Amino acid sequence: MQTLAAVSLAGGQGKTTTCYFLAKMLAKAGKKVLAIDCDPQANLTFFLNHEVASNQPTLLEVIKGTVSTVDGIYPTSEDNLFLIPADSGLAKVSEYLSGSGTGALILQIRLQAIQELFDYVIIDVQPTRSQICLTAVGAADWVLIPAESATKGVNSLLDTQKFLDEQAKVMAFRGQILGIVPFRDRWVGRTQTLESKDNIAAMKEFANHAPVLPTIRESEKFKQATRQGQLLSELGVRDLEYPFEKIIELLEDCKELDS
Ligand code: ATP
Ligand code: MG
Repeated sequence: MQTLAAVSLAGGQGKTTTCYFLAKMLAKAGKKVLAIDCDPQANLTFFLNHEVASNQPTLLEVIKGTVSTVDGIYPTSEDNLFLIPADSGLAKVSEYLSGSGTGALILQIRLQAIQELFDYVIIDVQPTRSQICLTAVGAADWVLIPAESATKGVNSLLDTQKFLDEQAKVMAFRGQILGIVPFRDRWVGRTQTLESKDNIAAMKEFANHAPVLPTIRESEKFKQATRQGQLLSELGVRDLEYPFEKIIELLEDCKELDS
């Protein structure tokens, strides 16, 4: 089982979008995939069309250990794709994690029980240095850093790298950065806007050996796909899926090297 988390310390950088498409595309390719919503905004839960009933366990109960990990896992409308959902109540988990002494390791421990059940775990992470973010990063073999192709995205990348370095120094992040994914790369016709070009060049400069992966183009089609629970290929714009196809290739290559 390989665990991948999408992390950025600023909001609106494409984390949930990346998780949604990766999880769905991996599942379509026949992999057993578990998506985990580590954000009390619960956008991934919403995109995967899961409604949390008040008496049903979510990630909150899984992290606290009041239910077993499998009891927090739900099927989705996609074969092979399962979800540990979140709702706004997840914010309450901070208290538990900060009180436990080893908060950053808790999610990793909870996932040990399901090692044999999934090929990939895809974690959508809250955009703050919260306890939830720490435990998500602690569970990750791989981190993707999506970053908007704008000044805000470059700053978010720098903050996120610094944060991951700090976590690595105290052994609370033992994975690797799989890559940086420029988000909302804007082109007008065949010409990339200067803003996108300059900011992606800055990302390459600051990447610090992490690969800067193919960009996610600015397009309303992504919103349309997530709203309708579809893939970009199902909307007839398969070329927009390219960055996710490349990430999947990278993950598969890493898995082969591992074994
Ligand atoms: P948050 O930090 O708030 O959780 P996020 O990093 O998860 O945000 P997303 O929710 O994936 O970011 O995307 C931010 C916004 O950009 C959303 O409103 C989404 O619909 C929109 N969006 C997604 N993909 C694209 C795209 N390719 N082009 C333009 N807008 C997009
Ligand atoms: Mg999000």
